[in-house]
Order: sequence, then structure tokens, then C-alpha cells
Amino acid sequence: MVARTAVVVGGGIGGLSAAVGLGRAGWDVTVLERVAVFQPVGAGLVLQANGMRCLDALGLGDAVRAQGRPDMSGGARRADGRWLARIPADDLERVLGTSAIGVHRAALHDILLSALPAGTVRTGARVSAVTADGAVTYESSAGPVHIGADLVVAADGIHSFVRRSLWPEAAGPVHVGVRAWRGVTPVWDGDLVVAITWDRGAEFGIVPLVDGRVYWFAAVNAAPGGSAEDTRIPARFLRWHHPIPALIAATGAVLRDDLACLDEPLPAYVRGRVALLGDAAHAMTPNLGQGANQALEDAVVLAAVAGQPDGLAAYDSQRRPRTQQVAKASRMIGRFGQQLENPVAVAARNTLMHLIPPRLALRSMAGYADWHPPAPLARGGSFDA
Ligand SMILES: Cc1cc2nc3c(=O)[nH]c(=O)nc-3n(C[C@H](O)[C@H](O)[C@H](O)COP(=O)(O)OP(=O)(O)OC[C@H]3O[C@@H](n4cnc5c(N)ncnc54)[C@H](O)[C@@H]3O)c2cc1C
Repeated sequence: MVARTAVVVGGGIGGLSAAVGLGRAGWDVTVLERVAVFQPVGAGLVLQANGMRCLDALGLGDAVRAQGRPDMSGGARRADGRWLARIPADDLERVLGTSAIGVHRAALHDILLSALPAGTVRTGARVSAVTADGAVTYESSAGPVHIGADLVVAADGIHSFVRRSLWPEAAGPVHVGVRAWRGVTPVWDGDLVVAITWDRGAEFGIVPLVDGRVYWFAAVNAAPGGSAEDTRIPARFLRWHHPIPALIAATGAVLRDDLACLDEPLPAYVRGRVALLGDAAHAMTPNLGQGANQALEDAVVLAAVAGQPDGLAAYDSQRRPRTQQVAKASRMIGRFGQQLENPVAVAARNTLMHLIPPRLALRSMAGYADWHPPAPLARGGSFDA
């Protein structure tokens, strides 16, 4: 049988996981990535139950667990450390059947890369033209290269070139009025209560990693702008509860982003032989911690259906409603949580959080992560074509 060919545009978490899945389903895959050399991103990530199930389906769950730490989130706190809502550490795992894992992004990226046959990923390959019938041009050091594929997976991120080319009518990303900082504290051997902390228009989250490292993120309401090089954390966080000031003080390099998302849902993720995946299809705010987890879901579903008759239509109909619902919920949680500024609204929110029974809070948190890959993949069967 002649292998079907797939070109994946973008070597982020979405593109690499799609490449692994398609490869295991028998596709001959090439990944085109514009950067010449992958630079390790100095940040972590929480892989929730849905993302971990996808990695299990790709045969990589155990490798990720070995490089990560169960994420035992204890709930939500105020800036002075008082609890708004507590969730017993093991309850989420009990409800979902698998623990969320805090992992360094570089570790996850390396695991995905090393699952691909040598030569699959071409770096320094910026895609500069694509058509709906699968013709792709990329710029290399030797000049433009033209290739064709039975399937093109556009996993080129929030500012997707492929989306702009083939969905010219679609609205682009919008800023959400939030600036975020991310850092990894290299060594931490103090006590660590894991929680998200909210104050007026601001939040701070703590995620332990392996080897004593701690990933943290902070966000405040802010208009986009200023210098991306200016990574100073607002002084207000230095007055927040322990260990927030100490974690910040112990961190070197920090990443800064003005957050954006695709606010207008796309009417289709597929055009001809081209399928959008991950942030290219549904860039969402990070408030539910689901962006990368949804990209992993896209990848395993695409790998499961792409070879079937009308497979891309099935991908579109399975992925679009779910991802757009998660994106909408994530935006709403951001508005209700970190972005809320009005003192009366904040007080009402805090009272509500005290009143909600932990069981209910748990169920709503678990809801978005409670997803299983298509049955044959969940059994680990159909990838070994
Ligand atoms: C502050 C913050 C915190 C977050 N926290 C979480 C979290 O805890 N959990 C979670 O699940 N998600 C989180 N996310 C979201 C998550 O990071 C993204 O959803 C995820 O990384 C998207 O992966 P992707 O592969 O779709 O896109 P990307 O990671 O953006 O990858 C796109 C790739 O395509 C390449 N590319 C672009 N254009 C071209 C071109 N023309 N030719 C070739 N290559 C190209 C880029 O170089 C890049 O390597 C967070 C995001 C932010 C900003």
C-alpha cells in the first residue's frame, strides 16, 4: 500500500502530537517549522486528564509522567492567603481517574520530538504559500521548496499563516486586555501549597515540576503595549501571601505576553485537504489551562479519522463544537476570576465561592477535562497500522 502523505505546518505541541498520531496511523509525515533551532520555552504547563489520555493514546503518557509531577491543586486563595475555596488534593484524580501533570514545556516538546522518526521535522522551513488542494511552499536556506500532500495540518499557532491564507474572511486574534508573566524557579525546597490566588484584576498560579523546580504564572489587567523586553513583575505581587514573593525573587528569566485569543469562532476547521489544529483553529485564553490540552485532543482525533472516507468532515464536526465551547468557557472564567476589578463584584464573587459546595466546584472543574479519545485509540489499537 502506498503511504498517504501529510505535511504538518508548525512544530509546537499541536503539530508534533499530530505528527506522532498520523505517523502511527500509517501516514508519511513531514513537519515544517520556521525556527532554525527549537529554543526551550522557560515555562511549564498543566496537562489535564484529557491531555494525559491523549498522550496515553499516542503511547507517550508514561514518558510524560516520568518527567512531570502530579498537579495537586488545592483551590483558590485571596492575596492575603485566606482560602476562597478548597478542593481536597486527591479528589480531582478520583473523579477523573487520572492525575493532572505539571510538566516543563521543554520536556514535553522533547518527548514528542523523540517519538518521531529522524528526518520528519524540517526546521528553518517557513511556509509561505498553501492551497486547499495540498500544495505547500516553504522557504529554506537553499530557496523556496514546493511539496504536495494528501493532507495539510495547519498547526502554526494563533497568528496562523495558513488560516490567514485560506480563511481570509475570518477575524484575526484579539487582545483580551491582560498581561501575563511566566517563570520557572530553578530550585525550591520550601513548603508549597498549590493554588491559584485572585485579587482585583490579578492572579498568581503555582505548579510544582520535577527536580524541585516550580512553574508559576501571574496576570494583571493591562492594555497591550510597551516593550516585550520589559519583564518586570508588578510590585503588587511582592505583597501577596507566601511563597509568591519568594518564588518571584528566586526566578531568573521571565516570559511576558499580552494575551490574545480568537474571539469569533470559525465556521469550519477544514478547507479542501487542509485542517486547522490547536491555536491556529481555536486560540483561547489560558484561564481553563486547556489550550495545549485541546491541541492534543485535536491531534488524536485527526489521526483517528483522517484516513477514513469523509475523515476531515468528521474531524471538523467532532472538534469544532467542543473546542469552541471550551474557548468560550475559558474566556468567561477569566472575566469572572482574574479580570474582575469592581470591588462590589469581587466581594460578590468571593461570597459565591465560599457558598458553592466543594463537590459542585469539583464537578465544574472536572467537566472540561473529562474527555476520552476515540475508542480504538483509547485501546491503543489503531495507531499501529
Ligand atoms: C500565559 C499562557 C499560559 C498557558 N498555560 C496553559 C496551560 O497551563 N495548559 C494548556 O493546555 N495550555 C496553556 N496555554 C496555551 C498553550 O500554550 C497553547 O494552546 C499551545 O501551546 C498551542 O500549541 P500549538 O502547537 O497549537 O501552537 P504553538 O505552540 O504556537 O506552535 C506553533 C508553531 O508553528 C510555527 N510556525 C508559525 N508559523 C509558521 C510558518 N509559516 N511556517 C512554519 N512554522 C510556523 C511556530 O514557530 C511554532 O513552533 C497557555 C498559553 C499562555 C499564553
